[in-house]
Amino acid sequence: RKIGYAIVGLGSYATRQIMPNFAGCDQAKLVALVSGTPAKLAHYGDQYGIPATRRYSYADFDRIRDNPDIDAVYVVLPNSLHAEYVIRAAQAGKHVLCEKPMAVSVAECEAMIAACRKAGKKLMIGYRSRFEPYNRLAIDLTRGGHVGPTRLITAEHGFPAQPNQWRLDKPLSGGGSLMDIGIYSLNAARYLTGEEPVEVSAVESTDRADPRFRTVEDRITFMLRFPSGIIANCISSYSSGHNGYRVIGTQGWINMEPATPYSGQTMTIRKNNVTAPRTLPAPAKNQFAGQLDHLAECIMTGATPIVPGEEGLADLRVIEAIYRSAAEGRSVRLRA
Ligand code: NAD
Repeated sequence: RKIGYAIVGLGSYATRQIMPNFAGCDQAKLVALVSGTPAKLAHYGDQYGIPATRRYSYADFDRIRDNPDIDAVYVVLPNSLHAEYVIRAAQAGKHVLCEKPMAVSVAECEAMIAACRKAGKKLMIGYRSRFEPYNRLAIDLTRGGHVGPTRLITAEHGFPAQPNQWRLDKPLSGGGSLMDIGIYSLNAARYLTGEEPVEVSAVESTDRADPRFRTVEDRITFMLRFPSGIIANCISSYSSGHNGYRVIGTQGWINMEPATPYSGQTMTIRKNNVTAPRTLPAPAKNQFAGQLDHLAECIMTGATPIVPGEEGLADLRVIEAIYRSAAEGRSVRLRA
């Protein structure tokens, strides 16, 4: 049997990246749609063969409780709506996959985890890079000391923000480039090291006269110090497209550029003074199908997802510290 997913929010990411990739899944299938726009429900419902009985509006979302075909709900809404829909999904007795950033505050993340725990349902965050082969290899090589013990990490993520969208409206996004794209630098620093930072220091620069940046930040850089002594230097921006990270060890480095796009990752390794590309065969399953199948498998076996709610919470803890550091002009300590 395949696990049935309801997609909540029929925006760009849901319709262009997630929904088409159910075709590559072994254990997950698309069974229901939730949207506030009847025309989208009709269009995508017809395209994916979802009958009218499994098309929901936000107002009748809670009726998913009565539909046993829906095992899991995938929340792909603007960030500040994640908490409400994750909690309502759990209360309707459904497992949940929630997009990054998990929510707009630590408090919301904690409430989401508590709601899913109380309902006895899985909660997973859409950190798709953990299902992408080059990132998985980078984790193994880094933690395995392939270029010697890690000393430093640099990570950068950005894209040029288009005007007039919820991402630039703080009440909906919770913040600027850091919430949306810089979180990939932060998450990579955490998954590459397998450690939680103990100190954060951040600097922000935003042209508030630019109409895009009235309520959210453009550029923010942050430095993380980890318990082992590793320092990660991270860049986040809405300025232009850039995407990569580099792990620097005592014997060389591992470079990923781009590191976390939808496809096209490239890895180069320098070890003992020799620089060479590292290529992997094309995977049988892409990162999108991989993450959908992973939650399905966890539901069937009772296992905990490799990117549970606690992973989203850990990022939000650091994000709050980054914003505090930038605002107060001092480094912020975090509990190990
Ligand atoms: P989008 O603007 O394309 O889609 C958002 C959808 O939410 C739209 O269909 C919109 O109609 C709907 N919506 C419902 N209530 C709304 C409200 N009050 N205001 C505005 N829109 C409302 O955005 P997106 O790019 O699809 O992003 C959705 C989520 O997915 C975000 O959390 C984002 O961070 C995440 N995302 C993740 C990835 C990834 O690679 N993991 C990529 C893109 C987006």
